[in-house]
Amino acid sequence: MVIFPGASAQKIVVGAHFDGWDVGQGAVDNGIGSAILFDVARLLKRYSPANDLTVEGVWVNGEEVGLVGSKKYVEMHYKDSIVAMINMDTTGSPTSFSAGGTDALVPFLERIAKALNGFSISPSIGNSAGTNSDHQPFMLHGIPTIAVWGKLDPDMVSHYHDLGDSFDKVSKRYLSDAAAVASVLAREMANSPVRTAPPPPAKPSSSCRSRGSRTVCANRRNGSSTDAGAAAPSLPRRCVPVVADHRTVSLEISVLTISARSA
Ligand SMILES: [Zn+2]
Repeated sequence: MVIFPGASAQKIVVGAHFDGWDVGQGAVDNGIGSAILFDVARLLKRYSPANDLTVEGVWVNGEEVGLVGSKKYVEMHYKDSIVAMINMDTTGSPTSFSAGGTDALVPFLERIAKALNGFSISPSIGNSAGTNSDHQPFMLHGIPTIAVWGKLDPDMVSHYHDLGDSFDKVSKRYLSDAAAVASVLAREMANSPVRTAPPPPAKPSSSCRSRGSRTVCANRRNGSSTDAGAAAPSLPRRCVPVVADHRTVSLEISVLTISARSA
């Protein structure tokens, strides 16, 4: 874990898992996510070590066998004020962002995508809530999660979880692209008034209802509901309304991007 203390204890978590499948080296899944996480820490230390919010880099084990490390982290830190979790898992050269089902993050991510000149980030922000990586335990505790989706070469994808997931598949260019974009994203989240409200203690918002042992949250965007999962007996579950107060992403973001790419 690496921590950049902010003026506020509210924090942005950037996460990646370091375990892989034993049959291969796990270079793409998730050596590259690990390398991106390390480079985000390097870039923040160099360009933006002090921010409004705290930024925490979290490197976890056991994703492949059941999200063990990220579940443990959330179990230990769910009472912290985590504004958002950005997950790096098999991340290629960034092409789009996903707001992970948090509607209020969409305009913010649209601005970031637009401001990242020189990168081919789609202005169309995904907003589906996938569950198959370390962001899942955060999501199930009502913490907004963000995914950076990216381009991978065919031989990176075709050796998923097999012997061929080896270091020769790694692209230095894709790594530096992803590290630059993830750094900008973390930095902007930690300083822009995308004030995703700190999670309220315990009591679910009016859009969440308990149904037996489960919590169901209404999606105000499309009128559907989401099963937020079975309640863990020891952890209160919550559904966090996100209050967004966006402003134009400053020119600084482009400067940071250029600096990051030339580093
Ligand atoms: Zn993975």
